[in-house]
Amino acid sequence: MSWVASLARPEIAGLEPYDHAVWEPNLTRLHANELPWRAIADESLAGLNRYPEPQARALIERLAQLYRVPPEHLLISRGSDEAIDLLVRTFCRANEDAVLVCPPTFAMYAGAARVQGARIISVPLVAEAGFSLDKDAVLAQCGGDVKIVFLCSPNNPTGNRIDSEAVRDVLTALIGRAIVVVDHAYVEFSNGADGLYRPPRPPNLAILRTLSKAHGLAGARLGALIADPDVISLLRKVIAPYAVPQLVIEAALSVLTAVHLRTLPKRIAQVRAERFRVSRALAGLPIVKSVLPSEANFILVRFKDPVAALARAYGARLLIRDVRGYPGLSDALRITIGAPEENDRLLQAWA
Ligand SMILES: *Cc1c(COP(=O)(O)O)cnc(C)c1O
Repeated sequence: MSWVASLARPEIAGLEPYDHAVWEPNLTRLHANELPWRAIADESLAGLNRYPEPQARALIERLAQLYRVPPEHLLISRGSDEAIDLLVRTFCRANEDAVLVCPPTFAMYAGAARVQGARIISVPLVAEAGFSLDKDAVLAQCGGDVKIVFLCSPNNPTGNRIDSEAVRDVLTALIGRAIVVVDHAYVEFSNGADGLYRPPRPPNLAILRTLSKAHGLAGARLGALIADPDVISLLRKVIAPYAVPQLVIEAALSVLTAVHLRTLPKRIAQVRAERFRVSRALAGLPIVKSVLPSEANFILVRFKDPVAALARAYGARLLIRDVRGYPGLSDALRITIGAPEENDRLLQAWA
């Protein structure tokens, strides 16, 4: 049995792939109980009367090219949210297995664990050291019941990157014992990729990528999990056969063109320039205690009176994220970098 199968829930490891209708685009489809005619206003390319291609090949190839990985290392999902849920459902038995998270971090990891009934082991990031990873504590807490370690880099909501040497050490120590998921939702905004997925690549590494942030496709709900082909094959047995809708496949293929990829660095540079400008301006405001350094498209800010700051922003019809419920962030708000005029409105509201 492969290490992946022995790590997974036994019922999942033994699962036969769902026997969906055969995908043979050149043959006439009398095998999937679809209607032979399009709806009157259906302007899609393939026709929404037809089920979409499961794990659509063209989209997988486009994303594999984008992320510079072989196609068989990539699973497409309804946003990273679905990939997180799939990982937890595939590897964690309810009431027996655990996931390890490093708060303050993205709430979906613990949320998916709660839905599955998996235990949650928390090893906080070290606030005094810029929310860095407590590698030794993570490894000390990784008993046999921990099946997945979730690391987020750059981290939401703190904005800092997790040191890639520490990530590598965790990966190496947990080979054959646990999957280490590195969530790269904001990596495009950071100071250079850390090359984690380059060979030699630990087999227990899984990377989450999303089109929701830098690519501007949050409404499409499209993400990718990049992992060892054995992990991908296993997850393909668990994911819904028609997880990614035809409209999303077509929208993503029409957006992810050479023109888009040429525009992307300019957009990212603009966000980074605004992040710098807004951070500086916020640091000079009397209501602000401190502005944390960020490598994402948001800034975490500590306030003398966060409730008043929230109210003033809301009064100016601006929504910002109240993150005071996270451990160690009782005075903090998270601000997404908007367009320059939107950022100006926020700075004026707080001036
Ligand atoms: C926004 C975000 C995502 C993206 O989720 P999608 O479901 O792909 O939209 C993933 N991880 C983190 C940490 C995020 O903040």
